[in-house]
Amino acid sequence: MERLQKILAQAGIASRRKCEELILAGKVEVNGETVTTLGTKADPEQDIIKVEGKSIRNEKKIYIMMNKPKGVITSASDPAGRKIVTDYVKGIKERIYPVGRLDYDTEGLLLLTNDGEFANMLTHPRHHVPKTYLATVEGIPHGSELDKLRAGIRLEDGMTSPAEVEYKDIDLEKKEAVISITIHEGRNRQVRRMFEAISHKVIRLKRISFGDLQLQNLKRGLYRNLTKAEVDSLK
Ligand code: URA
Repeated sequence: MERLQKILAQAGIASRRKCEELILAGKVEVNGETVTTLGTKADPEQDIIKVEGKSIRNEKKIYIMMNKPKGVITSASDPAGRKIVTDYVKGIKERIYPVGRLDYDTEGLLLLTNDGEFANMLTHPRHHVPKTYLATVEGIPHGSELDKLRAGIRLEDGMTSPAEVEYKDIDLEKKEAVISITIHEGRNRQVRRMFEAISHKVIRLKRISFGDLQLQNLKRGLYRNLTKAEVDSLK
């Protein structure tokens, strides 16, 4: 017999903490009975354990890349009923969830999976997967301002690690610039805050790569399965 949250985490449902939340939210049942007590034990071999009505046994591992549109929440559920990323994924019976987050107004490459270990590994602060964004900013940043981002810049939660930064486009008429920025961390609103720190507001943000994966021409709101080689490249 093992604790239910451990069984769920080992089955790749989510991190152990998220699994505890699922139990407390009344989304887990054992042999047809909803369980909401965290200490509950179950037998992973014998008991029929379901999360939101789906059995946790023999789940095929799913790895998806989607092009998240802006105005969509990166979450597996939203109590306020707003549009969530999994609304875009049709015909998959496994319970998938996003790897890390993109802000409501950020678009671009987002991974979705049902492989808890894979998701935890990629989002762990020690795991520095490079992520590249195209940021459209107000004003045209001076080279010396971009150098500050390249060196690492002080934010309220500490110094960032050095970023790779390049001009992609400059619109003198609109007084806007498109800058590509690669960061190696994943703090909350990090890219927006880095540009705020050099006094340039981000007006559009799109993630175009994650590790070796490139968004390429995947259309907004669409998704595709990763190849085995792509999954392996992230491990
Ligand atoms: N940085 C941000 O500011 N927002 C995101 O969504 C991702 C990275």
